[in-house]
Amino acid sequence: MPGVPAAASPPPSAERPLRIAVIGAGPAGIYAADALTRQDDVPVAVDLVDRLPTPFGLVRHGIAPDHPKMRAIRDTLHRFLDHPLVRFVGNVDVGVDIPLDELRRHVDAVIYTYGASLDRQLDIEGEQLPGSLAATDLVAWYTGHPDCDRARVEAALAGVRSAVVIGVGNVALDVARVLSRTSEELEPTDMPQHVLDVLAAAPVEEVTVLGRRGPAQATFTTQELRELDGLADATVLVDPAELELDPLSEEHAAGDRNVSRNLAVLRGWADHTAAPGRVRLRLRFFRRPVRLLGTDRVTGIEVERTAVDGDGRAMGTGELEVLPADLVVRSVGYRGVPLPGLPVDERSGTVPNDTGRVLREGKVSPGEYVAGWIKRGPSGVVGHNKHDARETVAALLADVAEGTLRVGGPVGDLVDELVARGAEPVLLEDWRAIDAAEAALGATRGRARTTLHEREALMAAVRAAADR
Ligand code: NAP
Repeated sequence: MPGVPAAASPPPSAERPLRIAVIGAGPAGIYAADALTRQDDVPVAVDLVDRLPTPFGLVRHGIAPDHPKMRAIRDTLHRFLDHPLVRFVGNVDVGVDIPLDELRRHVDAVIYTYGASLDRQLDIEGEQLPGSLAATDLVAWYTGHPDCDRARVEAALAGVRSAVVIGVGNVALDVARVLSRTSEELEPTDMPQHVLDVLAAAPVEEVTVLGRRGPAQATFTTQELRELDGLADATVLVDPAELELDPLSEEHAAGDRNVSRNLAVLRGWADHTAAPGRVRLRLRFFRRPVRLLGTDRVTGIEVERTAVDGDGRAMGTGELEVLPADLVVRSVGYRGVPLPGLPVDERSGTVPNDTGRVLREGKVSPGEYVAGWIKRGPSGVVGHNKHDARETVAALLADVAEGTLRVGGPVGDLVDELVARGAEPVLLEDWRAIDAAEAALGATRGRARTTLHEREALMAAVRAAADR
């Protein structure tokens, strides 16, 4: 197996560098590639493999398009892709285009950084009704992810007046904000045109963001919260009674800067009143979803009032309330996708690991590493992945120093193998062709870029450039 030192295998050299496949070209993968190429102790060659023909993971298909400054981090990430020791290899689905074992035969080590892109379910009645979506579905749609279920999302959005978003994290705020924005606000973004058209046609009047616990337990950050009050045509509404805290939550708030700032912002909105013609953007707390109502599609959500107990848990009070809604979006976290051949802890949705070294049946698996959300779970902003990836790369380099990870003899080129298997890997120059095609499409409407949302369109841009 790769990574297991052959008795006489030499240490990595410029002629035979340590060959590493990083699986997932999102922020964690790119930061891992950067950390590998920033050091001089171990000569390396890095293949940055992604299922999509495009790099950047959640920077492209997660960060909300109306946050252009945050999305600009892709410019920094792009510079790391340009490094001569890094090769972007997109459009390769590991486990489908090539079995993991086979891929491992072509490199000395693998770092899994493919994230956590699946939604979490609520497991309540009515969750599968039309009009009920996961935030992951909606985010994939509005960022132009090629694998999104466009028909389902667009059917759910048709005619929507009243939406409920379950969860009080930053993703819930992204979704609520995008649904509450005017078409003029969204027009300059890189959202695909059909997304802009569908959102412009949805007659949204009310968006409710629902926390099962109190405002002191909400996980959104203050900057993102504050932004809700700056929308062109929406008024943020809170119920002052739901901002009252029990003594333990008050104590928790006093000791946590983010929470105390959130509370100050929320309390500052307590005197807001709904204005005719403006979207009502409500933040509700202490309400646990019980079931979604409706027969052919969602018509409402039944919630139970809660109180937070001494351990910070939401305890039902038995008091029920129905909120009318023709769209319900659950934004209750992400979980990792299983990769065939790789262990995933069912509960946490992460790959078992010890500071980045993959564990198989409790033992370190030589030559296998993990970084990013699939290592630590879906938390933190893009920048957290830098530290996380460095920790993993430090473990890998320590293994080389200790001789437990060495070059594993002659290996064939991964891209040659992929092509021989009928795959169509997208390399850096191909991605540049996609990049240019998106900029050109955006320019037709006076925008910096418009995302190409179909795999066929992405690959057509690659092939057109190759034919020139
Ligand atoms: P999150 O912060 O973990 O929020 C998940 C929310 O879902 C919590 O409010 C949680 O409430 C709620 N929830 C979970 N299970 C529930 C249930 N059964 N019923 C009702 N509510 C339930 O996750 P996220 O919003 O998906 O964000 C993921 C990460 O990405 C976070 O670190 C976030 O900061 C980051 N992110 C950052 C930005 C930004 O910086 N602008 C934007 C997007 C995402 P409990 O606390 O009660 O469990």
